[in-house]
Amino acid sequence: MLQDNKKTGWSFEIFPPRRTASVSTIYCTLADLKKLKPDFISVTYGAGGASQGGQTVEIVNAVKNHYEMNAVAHMPCIALTRDEARNQLAAFKNVGVEKILALRGDLPADGNVPHGEFSHADDLIRFVRSLDDFSDFRIYAACYPEKHPDSPDWESDIRYLKQKVDSGVDGLITQLFFSNSLFYDFMDRIRNAGIDVPVEAGIMPVINSRQIERMVQLCRASLPEKFCCVMNRFSDNPEAMFEIGCAYAVDQIIDLVAHGVDGIHLYTMNNPAVATRIFESVRAVIGRN
Ligand code: FAD
Repeated sequence: MLQDNKKTGWSFEIFPPRRTASVSTIYCTLADLKKLKPDFISVTYGAGGASQGGQTVEIVNAVKNHYEMNAVAHMPCIALTRDEARNQLAAFKNVGVEKILALRGDLPADGNVPHGEFSHADDLIRFVRSLDDFSDFRIYAACYPEKHPDSPDWESDIRYLKQKVDSGVDGLITQLFFSNSLFYDFMDRIRNAGIDVPVEAGIMPVINSRQIERMVQLCRASLPEKFCCVMNRFSDNPEAMFEIGCAYAVDQIIDLVAHGVDGIHLYTMNNPAVATRIFESVRAVIGRN
């Protein structure tokens, strides 16, 4: 995505601390992540409405202006009005951040769809592209190697993804996955459909069993047998889980780079120790020596 010809893209996702914690708790994490030479850091955003974006603005501001790294602000639109979306974009631009990951946001489990003015991510993308004030923005979007859970079939998933990309997307970041063959099949599908923007592969190192339960629930990522077997065997051994989670992610990354992936987007879970261990194992592979 943001790489030159010799390097594989290398980026991290972080999330704002819980509402009860100060945003400053993330700053040590940022200082550690900077040492790992990412092309950019993306910062998540709760989809509950415009008020949720404040922490994201504060953190992308720190990433960009204090830690001097590229920042990408996540921006779910499902609960936003057009005016709120314009204000949110202006808040990012005011702190010098002109890269967003345009998202729909997850629908609440209670089935109450928020009363925003956007139904899907492509509505937001067309909206941004229609505004002269934000014409320099780079827009990234999400994609799903196992198709989005709401999609009834692959045909509709890829059709809407193509529509989203054609509405003005510069690059895609994938949902996490644990089996690279799913990613390779997905890449064949999208390239055959004429989607040719760069795609960063989302990799999540799993270092405890709570994470697995959450992921299966939230992302519906499928878990390969080898993965389950190892996790079951060592789930009550934190040190082993750290080793295994990092090793599994490293194995995925090396295979992806060997297959010519555009970039790796590491879901860091705000854990720089994990990101550091992985970086040390793949730095030559991703061209960061
Ligand atoms: P869309 O692209 O709108 O797609 C959602 C579903 O609708 C798909 O089934 C698609 O096929 C279908 N569809 C798309 N366009 C149309 C259309 N025009 N008409 C009919 N159907 C359509 N959530 C957050 O709340 N905050 C975050 O910070 C966040 N970060 C994320 C980062 C990444 C890398 C990823 C992969 C996900 C992230 N999410 C985040 C979760 C995301 O919001 C959910 O996965 C959400 O359910 C879908 O978002 P989307 O932008 O992919 O949706």
